Amino acid sequence: MMIVMKEEATPEQIASVVKRVESVGAHAHVSEGDVLTVIGAIGDRERIANLDLDGTAGVDRVVPITKPYKLASSQIRHGEPTIVEVDGRKVGGGHFSLMAGPCTVESRHQLLSTAEAVKAGGGSMLRGGAYKPRTSPYSFQGLGDEGLRLLKEAKEETGLPIVTELMDTRDLDQVLEVADVIQVGARNMQNYSLLAEIGRSGRAVLLKRGLSATLEELLMAAEYILKEGNEKVMLCERGIRTFETATRFTLDIMAVPVLKQLSHLPVVVDPSHAAGRRDLVLPLSLAAAAAGADGIIVEVHHDPDAAICDGPQAVPADDFAHYVEQVQRVAAVVGNELSAL
Ligand code: PEP
Ligand code: MN
Repeated sequence: MMIVMKEEATPEQIASVVKRVESVGAHAHVSEGDVLTVIGAIGDRERIANLDLDGTAGVDRVVPITKPYKLASSQIRHGEPTIVEVDGRKVGGGHFSLMAGPCTVESRHQLLSTAEAVKAGGGSMLRGGAYKPRTSPYSFQGLGDEGLRLLKEAKEETGLPIVTELMDTRDLDQVLEVADVIQVGARNMQNYSLLAEIGRSGRAVLLKRGLSATLEELLMAAEYILKEGNEKVMLCERGIRTFETATRFTLDIMAVPVLKQLSHLPVVVDPSHAAGRRDLVLPLSLAAAAAGADGIIVEVHHDPDAAICDGPQAVPADDFAHYVEQVQRVAAVVGNELSAL
């Protein structure tokens, strides 16, 4: 249920509604908008309805949240977008973020030279995996702790916030020491214990859509993080599996406007894993920006031919500044401004 408070509702009236919602064992999620306060009451529907909150002092109306996801629903914020702020860079609500860097951290030289190019080109954050979800257990699995150490050094050198993947709750503490944004990979989108643990950590999250997940399943996964009180969730469309074999995956560009209708959370697009090919990364990025995405996460490498993984889809570091310029221009057309320091 959603309790929409009157514009003139006092803090005492809001607190009293919260108390009543909590008195039946439900969770009260208070969302203060520019004009209105909305209280999401999440719990047993019947017990909440029995509170008869309609007509209570300060309450304008009580509306059911019709979707199975509640906290992720755009309804709960009355159509206002959530802006996720990461170390001064904003994502959502007109702020566009470019997260860029190698697929995986390979070496000090590789990471630092790529990071410098990302910074110089106007990137907002540095991406790079220390723990990699690989299809084959015989492929390089990432540098692990050493990769995290190098990411920390790159952050100190460039000032760029770090986006890195967490695959296992046992690595959470180490990852929290470095990550400004924790990436949940496509293959872990429905790893609910991982999602809940990240939710409890309170750190910003980039939640990637599963290879064959529906948008509703993606939003239900986001709900697991939000339910723990972590509102810094970004959704990421990274290409889905279809009958098409010409490209690695199929970028579902429609996911951008649809997710933005269904949810208040920022939507980021990963053109690199969708395409699997460098020549498609720019056109897909332009399409994402034009469709209203709040950001892009893109693979960049200082020497793609020598990359240990995902070299064919990496934008060469030397081309990054030009890439940013073009994406930025299209983002501006739909009213989004690049957020970089
Ligand atoms: C990645 O970002 O490097 C990655 C492995 O992505 P995904 O989980 O989308 O495959
Ligand atoms: Mn990759």
